Amino acid sequence: MKTLQRNAVRILTYYWLAFAASSMAGESAGLNADDALSRLLNGDKRFVAGKSEEPHGAALIERRHALAKDQKPFAVILSCSDSRVPPELVFDVTVGDIFVVRTAGEVVDEVVVGSIEYAIEHLGTHLIVVLGHQRCGAVSAAVSGAAETGDIPDILKAILPAVEETKGQSGDRIDNAVRANARDIAKRLQSTGPIIAPRVQSGEVKIVAAYYTLDTGQVELLK
Ligand SMILES: [Zn+2]
Repeated sequence: MKTLQRNAVRILTYYWLAFAASSMAGESAGLNADDALSRLLNGDKRFVAGKSEEPHGAALIERRHALAKDQKPFAVILSCSDSRVPPELVFDVTVGDIFVVRTAGEVVDEVVVGSIEYAIEHLGTHLIVVLGHQRCGAVSAAVSGAAETGDIPDILKAILPAVEETKGQSGDRIDNAVRANARDIAKRLQSTGPIIAPRVQSGEVKIVAAYYTLDTGQVELLK
């Protein structure tokens, strides 16, 4: 009898876990670009206010288990590698929510494009956010024409078009270049490759450029 009861409990637990897994992984599945963007910006508002709600402790462990076999991230974030701009914290999201690609200056190469394409093609994500940030070291180095070694010059070279584009503009040189860099990358991605470009054209995928202020934690969309 005891064995029967134990088996019944085991079976119920299994079904509960299976249900929890499917409902959690599906929570953000298929979220359209506008809803995905609202969710990110609302998360940032909580982050700015110091009122993050994402799970910790046991709830986080539960979420981790639920997502162990599947992921349906509702947004792709292409951001700078800067240690002060962690997208999961900035947007107050958790495990399984966002597909993050990070490089210094959020510069793009084939591997970055391929990573974004994977999220669009295989994970069903509809929103790509290109996130630049205040006082970006990579953009600052490109603006000042810093002499770097190793492969760092490749990063600066990729940022130079934004530096050239904003030369002579009023305001802060670095800040202008940061914003131009994020805008240019977002614009280029819109017409990139056989996976992203047609979906942008059909309206299935949206790409937005955004700017993160280190001083406040706030994310603003760039027009
Ligand atoms: Zn940066």
